[in-house]
Amino acid sequence: MGNAANKRVVVIGAGIVGASLAYHLAGRGAQVILVEAEDIASGVTGRSFAWINTSHDGPDPIASLRGAAIQEYRRLETELPGLKVRWSGALSYGTNPEALHASGHPPSATQLSRSQILDLEPNLKHPPQQAMYAAEEGALDAVQATQALIAGAQAHGAQVLTQTRVLGFTTQGARVTAVETARGRIEADVVVLAAGTGIKQLTELLNLPLPIAASPAILIRYASPPELVRTLISNPEMEVRQGPDGTLLAAEDYLDDALENQPAAIALRTAQAIRNELHGVASIELESACVGLRPMPVDGTPIVGYLPDIGGVYVCAMHPGVTLAAIVGRLASEEIIDGQGSPALAPCRPERFFQA
Ligand SMILES: Cc1cc2nc3c(=O)[nH]c(=O)nc-3n(C[C@H](O)[C@H](O)[C@H](O)COP(=O)(O)OP(=O)(O)OC[C@H]3O[C@@H](n4cnc5c(N)ncnc54)[C@H](O)[C@@H]3O)c2cc1C
Repeated sequence: MGNAANKRVVVIGAGIVGASLAYHLAGRGAQVILVEAEDIASGVTGRSFAWINTSHDGPDPIASLRGAAIQEYRRLETELPGLKVRWSGALSYGTNPEALHASGHPPSATQLSRSQILDLEPNLKHPPQQAMYAAEEGALDAVQATQALIAGAQAHGAQVLTQTRVLGFTTQGARVTAVETARGRIEADVVVLAAGTGIKQLTELLNLPLPIAASPAILIRYASPPELVRTLISNPEMEVRQGPDGTLLAAEDYLDDALENQPAAIALRTAQAIRNELHGVASIELESACVGLRPMPVDGTPIVGYLPDIGGVYVCAMHPGVTLAAIVGRLASEEIIDGQGSPALAPCRPERFFQA
């Protein structure tokens, strides 16, 4: 195996997770080849609401990763001119004000009164008595961020192969030494699986299947008058944010494949909910509504680290992947290149699925 400065690393998958891995690995001196079956950000990253959301209900094994997510994106903004986060803050509330503190808001979130809520979001028709405001949070354009990370990786010498599906692995003894693609074999000291929902199949090929569900969610885009929404609003009726050009983004749960729950039908109902919730929605035109498949480890905790029982394969599967991509990209690159294990990643190890 090569030393830190010339380790050959193949990263499979050019979503935001693989792009962050490629950027951080190349920045540490690895010879990186990023291999993508289709196009950059053509997976779920291209359908993400992309809220850097550090809240979590209940006990959180990855609290330290979530807690570092914002500062890691602030670092990336200084390193990569093309990566821009809209630090708008996020306003969250439910139907039951007593439950406001029960849900896991970040420690820096503050409770706002009705008049403070209206100062932030004057178009709300039904402002609650109280809401939590995470002023430090924001959202990004996940496709643009992925492209910026890949441009950064390329500036450090990484190669990017799109339209190149990984079909299998070459092993020698108990070690993976290359990936097999439609365009031929690529030798590697380390292979990083950042293929989103595709990781399940890749680990099946290695006879070490990881339980990762493809969890659907719906992203909707509308053209709407600008400045309807200033922050990011998450309430029981809608989860919305707006770009400077007026594009309004909404994230919705996927219900089932019944006709009345197709993305276009959900988009119509969501548009009505937005009209009911906000003043000033003179027009709201559907631009697109699509389902994205989120890579969801069955126990909800990211899977990050080397596969057991075989050498040279490092996995990066996680939700929420946009929130975690910056911090995990850095920590994983430190493990792979410097051999510096991170305590923050300890709850994420793949071994947990293979213990008898
Ligand atoms: C509606 C919606 C809203 C969301 N909102 C948020 C949010 O607010 N905050 C948040 O943090 N997350 C959110 N997510 C989740 C987030 O988008 C994902 O966690 C994240 O994009 C996962 O990125 P990824 O790089 O792991 O996967 P992907 O973007 O799917 O990238 C994997 C890539 O691997 C490629 N690939 C697969 N198999 C192979 C192979 N064999 N060979 C080569 N390439 C392969 C695929 O083509 C794909 O491009 C949301 C998702 C949806 C659908």
